[in-house]
Amino acid sequence: MTLVPLPAFADNYIWMLQDGSNAIVVDPGDAQPVFDALARDKLQLAAILVTHHHPDHTGGVAALHAATGAPVFGPARERIPQPFEPLSHGDTAKVLGLRFSVIDVPGHTAGHIAYFLPASAGRAPLLFCGDTLFSGGCGRLFEGTPAQMLASLDALAALPGDTRVCCAHEYTLANLRFARAVEPGNADLTQYSAHCESLRAQGRPTLPSQLATERRINPFLRSREATVLRAVREHAELSADAAEAEVFAALRQWKNDFR
Ligand SMILES: [Zn+2]
Repeated sequence: MTLVPLPAFADNYIWMLQDGSNAIVVDPGDAQPVFDALARDKLQLAAILVTHHHPDHTGGVAALHAATGAPVFGPARERIPQPFEPLSHGDTAKVLGLRFSVIDVPGHTAGHIAYFLPASAGRAPLLFCGDTLFSGGCGRLFEGTPAQMLASLDALAALPGDTRVCCAHEYTLANLRFARAVEPGNADLTQYSAHCESLRAQGRPTLPSQLATERRINPFLRSREATVLRAVREHAELSADAAEAEVFAALRQWKNDFR
């Protein structure tokens, strides 16, 4: 299985997994990049996986389904364009002999799900997390609470360290600028930032990231670390006994306001 990010719009990636004959796509906000990739590599579309209802993740679903008949899988608690197989926590989507486990990750949207594909035959585990976890950041809280997003990120952070994290946006450099403001002394973060800047300078994606890396550099997975806690408390003038969700909310708000 080959994993390819298909760029779409300004900074989206539609992730495609293909075995040389068949392909699975995740969050096709636009059908055209998928049609182009299918034609170029002479692939049949075997399934469409959707993480949440936003148009930049679902805009191409109807056209792809109509043209290929590929089954659509999506979050049980959200409305997406086509008839689809509704999935929620603990369900499995079986496609091309692969078994994607579904993890509920509310926060960015109320019914957001992520797909986890365990390691197999030398392939590292894969996580398709939509707009929940980004490299160096996390999604904005449009529909969920800070406590929900924190629990969702905790669930993702508990996956194996070698999991390749397939985020739906190339937001990495902007996220890392914020992360460095929160943790200026984090040497792993400095090193990872230089690596990502070099990739972008060559026009290459920074993704997929690796979960072990995210645990070392992503402030939204580190809101209980002493360095992050101290920075957030100082920035937001929180009391020393502020609850975890309150610290996380203040960190998210700091990012929203960060320029
Ligand atoms: Zn979204």
